[in-house]
This record gives sequence, C-alpha cells and structure tokens, in this order.
Amino acid sequence: MAKLKSLFDTLWFRVLLGLVLGIAFGFAVGPVTAHGALGIDGKSFLTEYIRPVGTVFINLIKMVIVPLIFFSLISGIVSMTDAKAFRRIGLKSVAYYLTTGAFAVCIGLAFGHFFRPGLGVDLSALAAVAGTPAAPAAALPPVNVISILVGTIPPNVVKAMAEDNILQVVVFALFVGITLNALGDKVRNLTAVFQQSATLVFRLIETVIRFSPYGVFALTAWMVGTQGLDILFALFKLVCVVIGALFTQYLLFGLMLVAFGRLSPLPFYKKMLEPQLMAFSTSSSKATLPVAMRVVNESIGVSKSNTAFVLPLGASINMDGTAIYLGITALFFSQAYGIPLGPHQYFILVLTATLGSIGAAGIPSGSLFMMGMVFTSVGLPLDGIALIAGIDRILDMMRTTVNITGDSLITLLVDKSEATFNRQVYEDMSR
Ligand code: ASP
Repeated sequence: MAKLKSLFDTLWFRVLLGLVLGIAFGFAVGPVTAHGALGIDGKSFLTEYIRPVGTVFINLIKMVIVPLIFFSLISGIVSMTDAKAFRRIGLKSVAYYLTTGAFAVCIGLAFGHFFRPGLGVDLSALAAVAGTPAAPAAALPPVNVISILVGTIPPNVVKAMAEDNILQVVVFALFVGITLNALGDKVRNLTAVFQQSATLVFRLIETVIRFSPYGVFALTAWMVGTQGLDILFALFKLVCVVIGALFTQYLLFGLMLVAFGRLSPLPFYKKMLEPQLMAFSTSSSKATLPVAMRVVNESIGVSKSNTAFVLPLGASINMDGTAIYLGITALFFSQAYGIPLGPHQYFILVLTATLGSIGAAGIPSGSLFMMGMVFTSVGLPLDGIALIAGIDRILDMMRTTVNITGDSLITLLVDKSEATFNRQVYEDMSR
C-alpha cells in the first residue's frame, strides 16, 4: 500500500494513469463503441465538457513556451562565457541533429522500400473512408527549401513571439545571447535579468506541469472518443510500417547511448517515460519541452547550461520521428499512385525530408505542412495529404514521442562529450 502511495506521488505515474483512464473513458463515452452507451451523446459530451479541460492545459503550456525558449536559450548561451566552447557546442549539436535527422529519413525510406505499404492500396476507397479531409491539400501554404530558410529570420520579433513561430524566436534568442556575451561586463546587470527570468519561467513551468495528469486525461479521452478508428484499419499496413520504423529508431537511440556515450540505456529509457507520455498525449514537441528539460537536467544528469541550450534547439530543429514519417509517406504514395522513384529521387527525398523535419513546427500535425514540399520535390500529387490527415493524429502521438526522445538523447551525448554530465545522477534509478 505504501509502495502504491509512493508510486502515486510520482508525476509520471499520475500522467500514465491519466492516459489510461482517458482511453477507457473515451471508449466508454465516445461514439466509437455504441452510440449513447451511457445514455448520452458521447461526441458532444466530450467536445463540450472534456475537451475544454485539455484546452486549458494546452493553453497553460502555450503561455510559457515562448518565454521558456527565449530565456532558456539566452541563459544557456550567457552561461557559456567561453566563446570557443559555445561555438564548439553549437556546431556539435547542429551536426548531431542533422546527421540523426538524415539517418532517420533513411530508416523511413528503407521501411517504405522493403515493406511497400502503398502497394495495392485503393486510393479512391480510402478517400471514401477518410470523408471530409482535415487538411485539404489546397489549403496548405506552399513551402519550399528557400522559403524555409528565409522564414527563419523574423522581420518582426514581437510578431514572431505572438504567432509562436519558434524557429524565428530561436534565431532572435541566439542573436541576443551571443551579443550579450560579446558585450560582457558592460551589460552585466541585463544579463543577470535574463538569467533570473529563466529561473522564473522554470518555476512557472513546475506549477503548470502539476496539472498535466488532468490535461492528459482530457486530451486522450477526447481523441479516442471522437476520432473514429475506421480510417486506421483502412491504412493498417502503413500504420504498422510507420510504427515498426519508429520503434527501430527508438532502439537505435539505446544503441547510440552505448556506442557514443558508453552508458547503459536502461536509466535513459526509464527516465524518459514522463516526457514521452507527455509527447504521446499532446502530439507536440513544443508542449513537451518543459517536462523534457526538467527530466533531462534533474533525473538524467545533463548540466543546466547544456539542457538550457541544446534541448530547446533540438525541439525546434530535430524531429527524427517526423523525418521517418515524411520518408515513408512519400514512398507510400509513390507506390499507391504507381509513380516509380529512382535512386536520384531517393536522394532528393533524404534532403527534403530532413529539411522538412527541421522546418516542421513542434505542434500537432506539424509535418502535414511539410509534406507539400517533400512530395512536390519528387513529383508526387498532393491529394494524398488529405487522405493521410485522417490517421495523422494517432501516428503523430508516436512520432512526437520519438522526436522528443531524440532531442534528449543528443543533449545527453553533447553534454557527455563536454565532460559536464553527471553520471551518478544518471545511474540513480530513484530520481
Ligand atoms: N507533432 C510533431 C511534433 O510536435 C510534429 C509532426 O507533426 O511531425 O514533434
């Protein structure tokens, strides 16, 4: 009994409970099983009463996300007063992130190539099951390589913050942090203000996170109860292939820990459970960042400054699950439409899908907006995007879990290579 009580005291357990109860509740109340099984209109009950709880939770997180990224990055940079160390860590992180992203696309392409999920798929039957597409292809803004690069520079910082444009906020924070370091003593007080603001934001986040079991419950119940599962069965093979590839990447993370970090992967897998549950239920790397930062620093043993700098950078530019997904869906539609792709196109897919995973916003269905660029780069029709939108949420839950795990792993490896990593904390399974 005492054991159960101490388990219940841990946040990850309460979040897990929220998730499980949410699934059960969604099934009981939602229209998926029997309409009105509980004598109520499940769909509107979930939408009117349960969803708002989830919205409050998401809004609480959104409230702290821009200040978190902005102040955390700046405080991370100003804590690296050694300009050489900063450049080294920055370059190392970006190199790691890009390499794992490109490698993830290759895993996606390999799975798509060998398991051929699109072979024999009747797209017109699929369109009938998909019904009204959640994101008609025509409604997606055009995205290409140049526009992603140009789009990282904020013409108006306030607007970038107001619109939650994380990539632009990252760029501005880098500018401010680097310049504060260059000015050194002249701006000592201002630098301290930024550092203290980061401390304030971390405390705000601790408060918000306490609400997460309820938010997770509400979001999951709503999701399970309102998003019919028919479409999932229609695309069963694709779903299995995506899950297989994501799981492979997940195992590779463990191997990377052993090979590059010389660490047992078990503590990492165990301690990542809490951020992973968060990623799973919110489908947003951005929303998971606060929890991930706390766990990576306090339980995994990564130094404060690298947690503050490398992890938010990863949450905005590194999405391994998304990279896998973009690779597989491109091959899925090439097979379903009967448009063969050669080695040259595979190479283009590695480039554009990696870029797409960098450019995708860490929000639910962020990658749908990148599919346009990836598909057009190899001449695939865009109509497929609307079909895939129907199953996107469920796959999104899984790829976001992989995304945040990859960011945390690279942050750990960078920290370890800088000899600032606390191995004792990492190996202490009670943390
Ligand atoms: N939802 C994902 C994330 O936040 C992005 C995506 O749609 O792939 O990491």
